[in-house]
Amino acid sequence: MTSTMPSPAPTTAFTANSAAEPSAPLSALPAILGTYKRQAPLFVRGDGVYLYDEHGKKYLDLVAGIAVTSLGHNDPGVVNAMQEALATGLIHTSNLYRTAPGEALAQWFVDHSFASSVFFANSGAEANEGAFKFARRWGGTQGFTHKHHIIAVRGSFHGRMPGTLAATDRPAYRLPFRPLMGGVTIVERDLDELARALHPEKTAAVIVEPIQGEGGVRVVDPEFLRGLRALTRERNVLLILDEIQCGLGRTGTFFAHEQIGVVPDMLTIAKPLANGLPIGAILVNDAVARAMQPGDHGTTFGGGPLLAHVAHHVVQRLSDPAMLQHVRETGAWFGEQLQGIADRTGQVRAIRGKGLMWGMDVHEPAAAIIGRAFEKGLLLVSAGEHTLRFLPPLVITKAELAAGLAILESVMLA
Ligand SMILES: *Cc1c(COP(=O)(O)O)cnc(C)c1O
Repeated sequence: MTSTMPSPAPTTAFTANSAAEPSAPLSALPAILGTYKRQAPLFVRGDGVYLYDEHGKKYLDLVAGIAVTSLGHNDPGVVNAMQEALATGLIHTSNLYRTAPGEALAQWFVDHSFASSVFFANSGAEANEGAFKFARRWGGTQGFTHKHHIIAVRGSFHGRMPGTLAATDRPAYRLPFRPLMGGVTIVERDLDELARALHPEKTAAVIVEPIQGEGGVRVVDPEFLRGLRALTRERNVLLILDEIQCGLGRTGTFFAHEQIGVVPDMLTIAKPLANGLPIGAILVNDAVARAMQPGDHGTTFGGGPLLAHVAHHVVQRLSDPAMLQHVRETGAWFGEQLQGIADRTGQVRAIRGKGLMWGMDVHEPAAAIIGRAFEKGLLLVSAGEHTLRFLPPLVITKAELAAGLAILESVMLA
């Protein structure tokens, strides 16, 4: 990893005093813990669908901070909402006190979804961890002492915390951290398997992403989800939909589940909710809301006035029918263009997606293509070793996408 400043040489005194021999030379350790492989240049500025590095080089951003900056960078409406919030001087009070922006945002969701109440968290994983707790609390009110089991499905990604990691189906993420939270099982994405696994006296909830993001951009079969909804009702089990990546306009409707005709008991959202500020939310129906009591869950920062005010602006923008129409139309066109690249290059095994969320399985390691695209000023992310993932800002135009597609095609043939 390169850096703009020379790293100080390790001092012998430090080495001599450390209890154990360090596993890497001290000079090689980054100040930010090395849990990510970061690309070398520093990004210093963002504008619209572009990021700029320290050398002034421009990059077309088809990652959007992993489906977060849906309105692009430096959006005037988002900047204005931040300035309005800052002007009040009220950034944080804790959840011990009432503030208007959080209440207004919660009311907006109550008015525009199945939810009767909302809990604000600070990330996707925190939203899902909370949903698991709510499910267990609800399970305890159903007349059975052991109704606390959570079921996730094959290919899932629900987060990196102890509970959500237990519900995340990627061995490399899970194995080094065992034992994971108990009472969580991953089952095949198959109705017969789930019918065997769901127990009316033991299972509290099933959690599913309508489109699996990290798991390779897999659009879950609508028939499967409708069947699962019927099954969970029949067995008195909660259905949690995780729309942290696919929700809030990404697939061309405000919620992904609108297109499937399935209403969950809980819905988790996060990534684009404040266009880059950290906020997540758990939307819950009446039955779950009634099971929760003061003291049952908490978070210091969740839904603070700055975040909530910005998020309130963002959800109004992302639910605008013209925005959703743009995503559907641009997304369908983008999918056709990806198919064209597949036909011309012969380098593609499969293409999947909806709206502006696409995955492309490639023969080469995805990282090699992503590296060459980066050199040419195009930001892409993977979803597994051989899948390229496209999560552009939802405001992107066809002309901007066409420029990215041209770079993609050239580096796939390189
Ligand atoms: C990103 C993601 C999460 C975790 O969100 P964090 O904010 O990274 O904790 C959970 N579920 C899905 C579907 C995601 O894409």
